Amino acid sequence: MSEVNVYKPENLRELISVYNSQPGSILFAGGTRVMLDVNTSGLGKGYSGKSKGVLQNASNVLISLEKVDELKRIIRRERYLEIGSAVTLQQIAGIGSRVVPAVLHRAISGVGYKSVRSTATLGGGLCTASLDYPPLTALVSLEARIEIRGKARSRWVPVEDFIVEEGVTQLAVNEILTRIRIPYGNWNVQYFRSTGVKGSPSFPLVNVSILARLSKNTLEDIRIAVGGESIGIIRNRKLEMFLVGMRLPLSLNDHNDFYRRLGDFLALAEERDTETQLKNRYVTSTMRKMLMNFIDNLILMEIVG
Ligand SMILES: Cc1cc2nc3c(=O)[nH]c(=O)nc-3n(C[C@H](O)[C@H](O)[C@H](O)COP(=O)(O)OP(=O)(O)OC[C@H]3O[C@@H](n4cnc5c(N)ncnc54)[C@H](O)[C@@H]3O)c2cc1C
Repeated sequence: MSEVNVYKPENLRELISVYNSQPGSILFAGGTRVMLDVNTSGLGKGYSGKSKGVLQNASNVLISLEKVDELKRIIRRERYLEIGSAVTLQQIAGIGSRVVPAVLHRAISGVGYKSVRSTATLGGGLCTASLDYPPLTALVSLEARIEIRGKARSRWVPVEDFIVEEGVTQLAVNEILTRIRIPYGNWNVQYFRSTGVKGSPSFPLVNVSILARLSKNTLEDIRIAVGGESIGIIRNRKLEMFLVGMRLPLSLNDHNDFYRRLGDFLALAEERDTETQLKNRYVTSTMRKMLMNFIDNLILMEIVG
């Protein structure tokens, strides 16, 4: 491998400037994924926007985010929580599930071992653009938004739209993910489950994240997000609207109706899957079980907020 140059900008302005003066350079946040790429294929590979995860003619330049304090802040406001892109998963988990929404807290604990979580950052995880990344599904249910900064412009985009397809983000060349903003909601039930194995062809990882507001056995509001590598990240507003206003436990008719609608929703998810039939069936049947289990047990669930 040829010589590697490492830059360590000391603030965001310097970072943007260095990143733009070094076309093809690679941002190094926690480095857990970057190091994997370096070890398997050498430098010269990076993720950037629509180039399908591979930068042509990339230089052997790494830009470390470790000294950029603006990307390492966690700010709590009345209406939202804001997390800098270079905050590690362990730091986020350390704030506790009273401040960090419980679904995100739970999703984070499902990423690798503690040693990985203490190095890997939330921004690095999102920019890796893995559709089965558990925090991604949680953030979609929370309707989080992310800030993208480039030299000429900055913009906020819903996290739901950030990943275009597996391995591809909305980032254009030399744009940086700077902050993740998570609005607080009035949820008193939060549910997050992952099942399957990351990378397994037959039992792929599937994530389900649900937020609900329950009052006197009536479902006042609900958001359901499901995600996995082959199906992408999906929310179905029609299914959510069907449930809003329902009394629990569901009557037999409503239960059957929900089961039918869930079937239609999952058929849609199946269509997205271009992989094997086995994977299709495993993913959708797992999701069906998780969602029915949630609805059947909702009334018994711990009220967390
Ligand atoms: C041992 C091990 C176990 C793992 N287990 C799991 C698991 O169980 N589940 C799971 O989902 N994942 C798992 N992973 C993958 C892990 O989630 C990713 O490696 C990690 O999230 C990447 O974060 P990072 O901060 O290390 O990113 P980096 O490796 O620093 O960066 C990743 C990519 O994002 C780019 N990037 C980083 N920050 C920014 C930014 N602010 N703006 C623009 N681009 C940026 C980098 O240039 C690079 O292309 C595992 C990894 C390891 C090594």
